[in-house]
Amino acid sequence: MKLTVFGHWGGYPLKNDGTSSYLLEEDGFKLLIDVGASAVSIMQNYVDPAELDAVILSHYHPDHVADVGILQHVRLLGNHEKRLPVLPIYAHEEDERGFSYLTMKDISEARTYHETDTLEVGPFSISFLRTIHPVPCFAMRFTANGKSIVYTADSAYQESFVRFSEQADFLFADTNFFKEMAGKSRVHMASVEVGRLAKLASVKKLMLTHLPQNGSLAQLKNEAAAEFDGEILLAEKGLSITI
Ligand SMILES: [Zn+2]
Ligand SMILES: [Zn+2]
Repeated sequence: MKLTVFGHWGGYPLKNDGTSSYLLEEDGFKLLIDVGASAVSIMQNYVDPAELDAVILSHYHPDHVADVGILQHVRLLGNHEKRLPVLPIYAHEEDERGFSYLTMKDISEARTYHETDTLEVGPFSISFLRTIHPVPCFAMRFTANGKSIVYTADSAYQESFVRFSEQADFLFADTNFFKEMAGKSRVHMASVEVGRLAKLASVKKLMLTHLPQNGSLAQLKNEAAAEFDGEILLAEKGLSITI
């Protein structure tokens, strides 16, 4: 599997950057995970939006869905050589209004997932875990060809992440806070919590994402590294990891 970061800031982007959006590829299948601010602009450096095969959304906060409408527009209005297939957008249905925006006639079609589902999308098997967040949100575990990647989406720390992430080849996790916030938030995780999760779950590699705009990212990484001995990456635009 190959993961490419399009947007990695939490809440809002810094200039010329984006918020949560990642491309996951395997066997030529292109799955977009979340469609945050500037995702469509940034992705064009790496992939033609017309070539996406499917989209999956963790939740409906703007920093994860801001560019859904723009993605529909580029598929509708872009100068494509041939008529594009209808794009499936997988999401939960606990926000009816948000879900309703995912279907656009002949362009995209909303498809529901549930926490207990194992979804098969192209080469990926995807399982879900409800997170701790102000709105319904789901973490995802992607498995393909014997490898697995876990995305925490947005969440405060919860013990159930450990089992859900067990032995994952790669974990990318909401690290919106420095260590002084550990144990205090019901919204996002802190550096040390993410590091501890990676350690307890024995994941092979960790990427910190949904990053804070203020403070030293080197410090954020060092705080996580105090808990986890394995390789730690800081998400950035265009970073590509092959698992
Ligand atoms: Zn977010
Ligand atoms: Zn959120």
